[in-house]
Amino acid sequence: MTHKNLLSVAEEFGSPVYIYNAEKIISQYQRLTNAFKVDELRIHYAVKALSNISILKLLNSLGCGLDTVSIQEVKLGLKAGVDPSKIIYTPNGVALEEIEQAVELGVQINIDNLSVLEQFGSKHPKTPVCIRINPHVMAGGNSKISVGHIDSKFGISIHQMPHLLRIVENTGMHINGIHMHTGSDILDIGVFLYASEILFEAALNFKELEFIDFGSGFKVPYRPGDIETDIEELGLQLTEKFENFCKEYGRELALAFEPGKYLVSDAGKFLAKVNVIKQTTSTVFAGIDSGFNHLIRPMFYGSHHEITNISNPKAKDRFYSVVGYICETDTFGNNRRISEIREGDILSFSNAGAYCFSMASNFNSRYRPAEVLWYEGKAHLIRERETFDDLTRHQIEVDLTSSLGKLVEKN
Ligand SMILES: *Cc1c(COP(=O)(O)O)cnc(C)c1O
Repeated sequence: MTHKNLLSVAEEFGSPVYIYNAEKIISQYQRLTNAFKVDELRIHYAVKALSNISILKLLNSLGCGLDTVSIQEVKLGLKAGVDPSKIIYTPNGVALEEIEQAVELGVQINIDNLSVLEQFGSKHPKTPVCIRINPHVMAGGNSKISVGHIDSKFGISIHQMPHLLRIVENTGMHINGIHMHTGSDILDIGVFLYASEILFEAALNFKELEFIDFGSGFKVPYRPGDIETDIEELGLQLTEKFENFCKEYGRELALAFEPGKYLVSDAGKFLAKVNVIKQTTSTVFAGIDSGFNHLIRPMFYGSHHEITNISNPKAKDRFYSVVGYICETDTFGNNRRISEIREGDILSFSNAGAYCFSMASNFNSRYRPAEVLWYEGKAHLIRERETFDDLTRHQIEVDLTSSLGKLVEKN
């Protein structure tokens, strides 16, 4: 997508707006599938990264399955036309009833704690279940997204394997997959290779496996010159390990991954208009028509999103603090070198595909933005900007006049 393409989208659909480049999603998917030369590769896109139905449809058309963490995500996937057999449901801390609902919908269940496994196995011994193992490999870009450590709430500890096996034996349940997901923004492929050894060893305990799922957490570049997870190298090394394991196991299994960021992060741009330029004693602020209600990652995780002035790209660079309109600290970037910003300019934020719109809220009673899919050289609106009705739709106004009257009398 060129600057001109982006500006035309901001012009047509207004700002702020999210825009996703379909070609980029497709090329990332192909890069991933080309990297692993195994008999059967299953890619399940992590819906929570970006859950627009048109994105799910696009990925489905490529042959990609889905990784879901809530029953609502399962339903979105089904609505997008994804076959239930290609949806894996990996909840954490949900009620047994929700897991049973997912079974009814025909999707692959992934269970991540022993008490649920025991209850589920006792009630539904015939339903195939994948188990989420916590291999206790420390990995991830920051503490909020590192979920493989010993005190993590995710997965069944590898040290609890004897208890796990006892439950499986006592209930007679059918374990068809094992899974891990240790965090996000993992740069070092050694983490996957090391964890794979642990998973392979665990896998030998189960005779009816169909797949092994290595989760995700591939790091993508955020800044120019940033390094990313070397998918090609991981593909070479893990493929070899996996094939050796399958020989030892005695049967070919499917190798599974569930990337979110890797598939959609770089495909997305967030466009916002500059409302005000404000010079203070220490900096120049560029205040945009958005805030962390629309893109929370900088404030929530300290994430870096490159900011480009696409409506004045050739001017002299100056330093800016780019801020939002939310009534508390709301900073997208400090001391950013950006081509001179004028009021009315359109700024483009990079890596806005993953965990951006999907984490947007109505804080400050603002509307969530529109979403646009750039596909075959054309802009397709895939979500309308919200309106005032969306803010009030589920609110119920109660009649407080009588008690209010009394309050007023008292005072
Ligand atoms: C969030 C999540 C993912 C996706 O992680 P990315 O870092 O976006 O690739 C995959 N699997 C599970 C279980 C998750 O919770």
